Amino acid sequence: MSLKEKNRILVVDDAKDTQMLLEFDLSAAGYIVNCCDNGQSAIDTLETLQVDLILLDMYMPGLSGLETLRQLKNESATNTIPVIMLSASTDEDEVVAALELGAGDYVSKPYVAKILLARMRTAIRLKEKTDQLEHLAKTDFLTGINNRGSFYELTNNAISLANRVGQPIVIAMLDIDLFKHVNDNYGHDAGDQVLRCFSQVMTEVFRDYDIIGRVGGEEFSVCLPNTSREAASAACERFRQHVEQLSVDITTDGQESVAINVTVSIGLIKASNDDTELDDLMKKADVALYHAKEHGRNQVVDAAYLNHFEEKVNVEENTVVNQEVKTMVDNSSFEGIDFSVGVNNVLGDVELFNEILVMFYQDHYLDGEKLSIAIQKNDIDTAKHIAHTLKGVACSVGAMTLFEVTKSLDNAINMNQQESFNELFSILKPELNRVMKGIAVKLDVA
Ligand code: GH3
Ligand code: MG
Ligand code: MG
Repeated sequence: MSLKEKNRILVVDDAKDTQMLLEFDLSAAGYIVNCCDNGQSAIDTLETLQVDLILLDMYMPGLSGLETLRQLKNESATNTIPVIMLSASTDEDEVVAALELGAGDYVSKPYVAKILLARMRTAIRLKEKTDQLEHLAKTDFLTGINNRGSFYELTNNAISLANRVGQPIVIAMLDIDLFKHVNDNYGHDAGDQVLRCFSQVMTEVFRDYDIIGRVGGEEFSVCLPNTSREAASAACERFRQHVEQLSVDITTDGQESVAINVTVSIGLIKASNDDTELDDLMKKADVALYHAKEHGRNQVVDAAYLNHFEEKVNVEENTVVNQEVKTMVDNSSFEGIDFSVGVNNVLGDVELFNEILVMFYQDHYLDGEKLSIAIQKNDIDTAKHIAHTLKGVACSVGAMTLFEVTKSLDNAINMNQQESFNELFSILKPELNRVMKGIAVKLDVA
């Protein structure tokens, strides 16, 4: 508000001569002045006109000054506008009533221009300071975007609205990958600089009506109102790519300039009618985010996709895209691979997915042999590396049974349960062969 050149004042008085006098004095003092003859017309005017202060006459035909004041203070759109009451009466009870109803000040008529103007300046300055404090309380000091509290408040409102009007809404959690390394390698100030640039990219890439916030140290959130799951995934993916391209120039203590690059992992969830608690949604988005971290970072994961492989697919959520993928599953059934999971993972790009399957084949068709040798030789490091990598890629390509067994083997290795190695491997190997054979036959890569 302080950036504005001129403040706008609404004068509400039924006496034309007072209106003219005020208009003259206030204009001369540099204000923009609008006038209304009565309380109701003031209330109507304020529906579309933004003003910085109201001068309100106490006695008017129709709505009295006090009644007008009461209505203005009851409306969230007008209750923070400072009001100074004007009256020829010196009835103390009325002055007290006006102040109790929320008037900022009281000036008696006939007014002394100098005093009225001084009181107006004070009221406007107080309002500006209050606004600044409110802004500070809602803003993250480092990045200037919504802080956690403000993000929650705005997003809760957006969820209620989406529910009322029956629109889809998506919540995403974003976490900068391996951010600790940035601090460790370049210092905390450089880390702060990266956080600021990251937030800046968020404000640029997401739409104006998306709600963005910093909800933790290097954790951010976005709420995308009136957005389908697919569109939200695409927006997050676009943002992920922007971050990948981002290069933050830092001048180190030795005056040398270095470019820092980071990536981001994102988990998202679409609110459904029976799941609108923000805390729950944030937790589910967080699980998807964790999944992204587990599977190599620098990627976007939709929580629905996790539900899918937990076999909790919500049937009613089958959108057009899912139906398209379904039809393709029938044409493209691969042994041991849930084609729809794999294709969803690359946002429906079937051609790309086929290429990924070829790469998956080439990189991993010998994993069975390699694992077998490593386990025989008790080379736990190698076995762990193979199992861990295979687990991640199996999940990405939708080889869900293979994923489950590899995960069990990976866990067994992590917990050093040597007695289970052979048993798990004996299940893993035929499953891996089945998947690889299916790809080889279908895509002619053998
Ligand atoms: P991951 O990919 O698993 O998320 O790894 P990470 O290193 O990003 O995660 P971790 O949670 O281990 O580390 C987060 C780091 O973020 C540690 C903390 O010091 C740093 N951090 C948190 N808040 C701030 C901040 O305001 N400024 C700076 N410079 N660093 C911060
Ligand atoms: Mg992180
Ligand atoms: Mg973190």
